[in-house]
Amino acid sequence: MSERYIPLAINGGISHGSWLKPNQLLALGEYLEEDQEIELTTLQQLIVKVPESQLEDAKKKFDEVGLKYYKVGNFVKSLRTCNFCKGEEEEGMPVAKGLNERIAGQEVPFTLRPAYTGCPVGCGEPLINDIGVMKKKDRYQLYIGGQAKGYNAKVGQLFAEDLTPDELYELVDKVLELYRQHGRKREKFPKFISRYGFENIREEVIV
Ligand code: SF4
Repeated sequence: MSERYIPLAINGGISHGSWLKPNQLLALGEYLEEDQEIELTTLQQLIVKVPESQLEDAKKKFDEVGLKYYKVGNFVKSLRTCNFCKGEEEEGMPVAKGLNERIAGQEVPFTLRPAYTGCPVGCGEPLINDIGVMKKKDRYQLYIGGQAKGYNAKVGQLFAEDLTPDELYELVDKVLELYRQHGRKREKFPKFISRYGFENIREEVIV
């Protein structure tokens, strides 16, 4: 029987910009066929296909060299971030990492793109992603329903503001759970918001 290949989305994790180191590229090369094409996505991820029989070994190796790997398909993507140019703590990198750990890979009706930006300049483009987080002073603003692609491109709406990190995590969890429960199969998140109603979502998750 021929070997199955498992697609993984890979990046170097949340840091000051998107970087990969030579030892990370070498680790990737250990598990890929010589002529395999590697897709570089607009979300700054590499899509690779790892033989199923080597998947667990590959994951261990990727952990060792600091590569992050995510499932490909109808899941929450890894958090797109800005470059945290003003500093790790000031721009909330620990909160971005915490949010990413919590939501990346969660199953949803259709691929969902979250974005985070460390100040209102907005280099991480949170307003044109499904879920957008913007740090403002010591608190966080949450936007939902942005869409960058297609004729229906639009900016997200401000869903809640002045959130602490824990309030942000909890609210994002609740929004994702509602989408999971009531979203139709392959229904994009902005479409779900239009159908279900922005205000109805607010009423259900903000108590
Ligand atoms: S959003 Fe703000 S902190 Fe982040 S890279 Fe842009 S200017 Fe720097």
